[in-house]
Amino acid sequence: MNIARPAASPAWLARTPTVWEPESQAFTFAHWAPTSSKEDSVAAWADGAQSEAAISMGMKQRRTNPSQIGRRLPGVSLATFLRWVEMPEGDTIHHAARRVRAALVGERIESIETPHPRHGFDRWPERLADRAVASVDAHGKHLFLRFEGDLTLHSHLRMGGKWGVYRRGERWRRSPRRAWLVIRTRDHAVVQFDGPVLELMTESRTRFDRRFAALGPDIVSDDFDERAFLRRLREDDPTRGIGDALLDQRTLAGIGNLWKSEACFLAGIDPWRPTGEVEDHEALAIVREVGPLMRESARGTGHQRPSRVYERAGLPCRRCNGPIRSRGQGDDNRTTYWCPECQG
Ligand SMILES: [Zn+2]
Repeated sequence: MNIARPAASPAWLARTPTVWEPESQAFTFAHWAPTSSKEDSVAAWADGAQSEAAISMGMKQRRTNPSQIGRRLPGVSLATFLRWVEMPEGDTIHHAARRVRAALVGERIESIETPHPRHGFDRWPERLADRAVASVDAHGKHLFLRFEGDLTLHSHLRMGGKWGVYRRGERWRRSPRRAWLVIRTRDHAVVQFDGPVLELMTESRTRFDRRFAALGPDIVSDDFDERAFLRRLREDDPTRGIGDALLDQRTLAGIGNLWKSEACFLAGIDPWRPTGEVEDHEALAIVREVGPLMRESARGTGHQRPSRVYERAGLPCRRCNGPIRSRGQGDDNRTTYWCPECQG
């Protein structure tokens, strides 16, 4: 049997020995650490919060028997699995903010580089020269590095960007060619890879920027505002499916496609039910189920990014044993996973 691979799988994937261990429900990668300086490696997908998530899901570092290489992952292509492990949602961004904060705040910035030739950040090093990083915070999927002197750096990773924090001399887990921004202190290099949204603005502009002003309450925040969430949910189209409505960052900041499906499952709510037919206590049950899990994931401790339904289409439900279903939902046709039996 072979791992189901996309036609255009990157070369490293074809070279990466990977097995699915039915007895432990675990993926095993033969090489966990970077095996080369190629720009993609397994470790590139399994860094930071994701590596801890991967460990909690049972990915282990160990050698595999070559004869096991290429076993099929039941119902999940390896590429899909890796995308899931990597997908930045609010918990990923908050986790990145914690690591970046620990590396930069209170430390002397030794250099700021913008190595990527395409993006015209030429003047950033001089604009940011001699400024300390006063704070680092996140709201939903947005990350802000606030420098002294009214300059703030805003980042949004979308599907493929990444923040890396490395000790000086440590090998980066993506190619330096993909670095858009490198901030060095005596002990660390903080690297933003692959953008795709990275902008420098005045602090006052961040307060008036309509994109940020429109964001709903942050589900990863410790003081998540339930009333604001409900108010914004009720302002939305009542015919919209609740699963789709949860993705709207104006209603609720931080939830992405993975947590959307998990949240509806945990609360026992059909993601297709029109929002207008979801009672307040049911909507609150959704955020109360998933909020603590996302906060735990953001802290990088304990129970992280479990999959009860996400990417499990056709597999038996962990509660009722019935088949998990999947279908595209909403204007963006994002795939929703649910158990029709448990979420009736
Ligand atoms: Zn079920």
